[in-house]
Amino acid sequence: MRYVLIALVLAVLGAAVLVAGRWLRAIRELSRGLSALGSGGRTRQILIDVWGPVGRLIGVFNEAAPAIQGRIDRLEEDRQQLRVVLGAMAEAVIAVDARRRLLFANTSADALFGLDATSVSRLVPELIRSPQVQSAVDETLRLHHPDAYQGEVAFPLREAVLRGPSRILSMRGTPLPGNPPSGAVLVFHDVTDLRRLERMRQDFVANASHELKTPLASIKAYTETLIDWALHDETVNRRFLERIDEQVERLNQLILDMLSLARLDSSQELFEHGPLSLIPALESCLEGHRGRAEAKDLSLTFDAGSLDGETLVLADEEAIWQIFDNLIDNAIKYTPLGGKVRVACSLAADMVSVDVADTGIGIPRDELPRIFERFYRVDKARSRELGGTGLGLSIVKHLISSIGGQISVTSRPGSGSRFTVKIPRCLVPASQSPSEKVR
Ligand code: ADP
Repeated sequence: MRYVLIALVLAVLGAAVLVAGRWLRAIRELSRGLSALGSGGRTRQILIDVWGPVGRLIGVFNEAAPAIQGRIDRLEEDRQQLRVVLGAMAEAVIAVDARRRLLFANTSADALFGLDATSVSRLVPELIRSPQVQSAVDETLRLHHPDAYQGEVAFPLREAVLRGPSRILSMRGTPLPGNPPSGAVLVFHDVTDLRRLERMRQDFVANASHELKTPLASIKAYTETLIDWALHDETVNRRFLERIDEQVERLNQLILDMLSLARLDSSQELFEHGPLSLIPALESCLEGHRGRAEAKDLSLTFDAGSLDGETLVLADEEAIWQIFDNLIDNAIKYTPLGGKVRVACSLAADMVSVDVADTGIGIPRDELPRIFERFYRVDKARSRELGGTGLGLSIVKHLISSIGGQISVTSRPGSGSRFTVKIPRCLVPASQSPSEKVR
């Protein structure tokens, strides 16, 4: 009987140890699964069959784990998508925490501010040395409502990253959720080109108004004088009417040039960029200036070089005419009596090069980069007196870029100027190359 009792106790103990072992194993599996879920890793179902509270716990875990796992996967997917979207943005985006430490920077921000993976968690004032950017961060954190901060900053760029002196960045700051906010997101948009275009437009309007006002004031003054007393004074009335006629012609030229530029700017000018025999086009343009050259006793010569009637360029005839009409007109205009104007061609690989050289007044070295700007004139009074509008070379530059050509200039004051135009050659015979309409 004693042995039976002992055997019974041993059997109960054995069963208890067996159950406790399963429970322990189940609890171990459970804790492994939970820590895997906690660290965002993957987990699998626990397949240990136990009863009691541990069994129920495992049941709950097996049910909840796939749902939690799915949610974690979706969050990770969203995070990756967000990273790609932010990475693809042209705007620079940074996120900082409430202590102004960098949380995130997208690719554009890395390039703009010279940040990298080691920048995360560092203080933004150390990374981006700009007082305006600091105050943008501070203001966004202080005024915690959406779009708390908007402003602009001129940001000097590091040479290695992007060229140019400095860029104008428009900044927009939004606080991260929380009260006070847990941080801020700042978006930087490069508006340098936009501002430059705005300034150009404003300058153009101011210059154009000024240029239009000058001849109008003259016309008004002569007209009033004629009305007041000079109409029947035969010693002056004809002269005054001639002055009015000159000013009207100037206004007309100015308006034509402005319209031409406006059409080029808005790409409304339709060009037929097709094979064009350059020599006849240049000769006919030159002939148009022969009379003026003779009137100033200038020698106007043309040297076709190795080009002949078969040499084709890929350009529109009207565009070519306008380019050389302006350049030859300037050469004649700015060359004193008895001087020389020479148009000479040469071949260079896939380009035709045309020089328009004169022995005129020349252009000072430091003025050379500016002469292609709208309304820019080295000597305003002289240009006006000679009927210039200050728009000719900007039209020329526009036209040359529309045919994929290049223009350069060398000059020495008192000795003369040389404008060199390079035009793409058309190496396919005209009959095989249909002309195309190009805007
Ligand atoms: P404009 O109508 O005043 O001639 P352009 O745009 O054609 O205007 O030229 C801009 C300026 O460049 C001129 O005002 C003149 O000062 C200078 N320039 C252009 N061509 C010549 C040239 N061949 N010789 C000397 N100066 C020139």
